[in-house]
Amino acid sequence: MDEKQIIHVLHEIVGNDFVSNRPEELFIYSQDSGASEPRSVDYVVMPQNIIEVQKIVRLANREKIPITPMGGGLTLSGLAIPVKKGIVMDMKRMDKIIEINEFSRYAVLEAGVTTGKIKAYLDENHPDLQPPIPDAPPSVTVAGNMLIHGSGYLSQKYGCHSSLINGLEVVISTGEICRFGSCAVSDYWFSKGPIPDLIGLFTSAFGTMGIITKISIKLFPKPKFRDLVFGFLEGFLDLPKIMSKITFTELAEDIMIGKSDVQEAFKNFASLMVYIVGNSKEELNFKRKTIEQIFEEYDARVAPLSGRIRDIMMSQPQYGAALAADWKKGGGFEYVGSFIPLEKIPEAIEKGTKISKKYGLIPSLLCRLIGRGHAVMFSVTFPFNRANPKDMINTRKGLEETNKMILEIGGIPWKSELGGQKLIMEKMDPNFKKIFKNIRNIFDPNGIMNPGNWDD
Ligand SMILES: Cc1cc2nc3c(=O)[nH]c(=O)nc-3n(C[C@H](O)[C@H](O)[C@H](O)COP(=O)(O)OP(=O)(O)OC[C@H]3O[C@@H](n4cnc5c(N)ncnc54)[C@H](O)[C@@H]3O)c2cc1C
Repeated sequence: MDEKQIIHVLHEIVGNDFVSNRPEELFIYSQDSGASEPRSVDYVVMPQNIIEVQKIVRLANREKIPITPMGGGLTLSGLAIPVKKGIVMDMKRMDKIIEINEFSRYAVLEAGVTTGKIKAYLDENHPDLQPPIPDAPPSVTVAGNMLIHGSGYLSQKYGCHSSLINGLEVVISTGEICRFGSCAVSDYWFSKGPIPDLIGLFTSAFGTMGIITKISIKLFPKPKFRDLVFGFLEGFLDLPKIMSKITFTELAEDIMIGKSDVQEAFKNFASLMVYIVGNSKEELNFKRKTIEQIFEEYDARVAPLSGRIRDIMMSQPQYGAALAADWKKGGGFEYVGSFIPLEKIPEAIEKGTKISKKYGLIPSLLCRLIGRGHAVMFSVTFPFNRANPKDMINTRKGLEETNKMILEIGGIPWKSELGGQKLIMEKMDPNFKKIFKNIRNIFDPNGIMNPGNWDD
């Protein structure tokens, strides 16, 4: 089929308003806010239901046209920008909240439901429940975030978001609809097992295994009270010990460590942010006192917060993260996020600081504990000015060097752009690579699903 015939078939599937090959509309799909080079897109299509997804995928498979699924398109590392042209399938119209189960505490969502939508819906209709969502802008999709091992305010307590998926409905490249998790057997999307867990094949796969059309996520009780124990620790060497001690108490909801050189006087200090929750003031006070005692044991200074900064940190983390991302006012932001072992925090901070400085940035680093201290999400941020080509080149070099450093210290870059994926593949067990390739071949024999990602 030629381009004219393909666009005609796509029009027939989704209607004239939801497919385009016009350059001015493809432009925004060819790049994101990160530092990846823009890449060409041939078509963008916005299906409204699974039958439309199935028809588009069958067309693409027949014609061997690459397909890249996209949620909010905000990973910043170019993961929803096609590497080999073809179709971007924008999932935003598939945004129905299908089911909220209050007793087994899960939500079944179409893939285009945003984190803003599920949060607002639960706040209004199920105020005792809360979703696991990231500090990313509320226009990102729940599926996009859960699928990339995202993390947020509940991740310290319950694990990274990929581990909170109960079930998936997927259209694979042949057009077959497959269900994974308990929904493969039961009408209840309440659990991954007790059957072999294939859900993991779709996480951090960056759309290479199929198009997820529905996702079931775990929901959690929303406590009545929330508070923040904030403080500073001079030096970084004691961070693993103090963090380990705090996680052993099992009293913290969310734990973050910040390191920023924006204010010269604070450049040798780590800021400690320990969020606590409870259903009574007494419970909260007990937790606060226990955490403060641990701070004191390690000579960390407790620093009560108030005013606007406290408001943002307590109830508007998405706004705070967006402000931090945009501090250079240059319209560009990317970060190397990574999973590292807890004991590697001091080394990561020291080396991340050096890299930032080398590339002319004011070091700004963040750690978030994942799954009660079993891992740390460590990030080095790179805000940059898109209008300045030198800034873009610097950022790309800085990202690459940070990816290498993370791998050298035993960590793994997270949601990595193409260059980072290659570095990971170089270090990967060859048998893992072989099996992964074979599995991809089963799901996608013609190599149409976001090809170019996870290729060595
Ligand atoms: C200021 C800022 C703060 C951030 N803070 C956080 C944070 O606290 N925690 C965090 O985890 N992230 C954070 N992020 C990173 C990122 O924005 C989020 O992880 C976001 O949730 C990604 O979701 P998305 O919908 O934009 O995914 P997309 O970029 O659209 O997609 C991500 C990947 O999944 C694939 N994909 C998307 N939808 C589907 C589907 N239906 N089927 C198959 N594959 C699919 C895409 O092809 C792509 O490879 C932040 C970003 C910014 C800009």
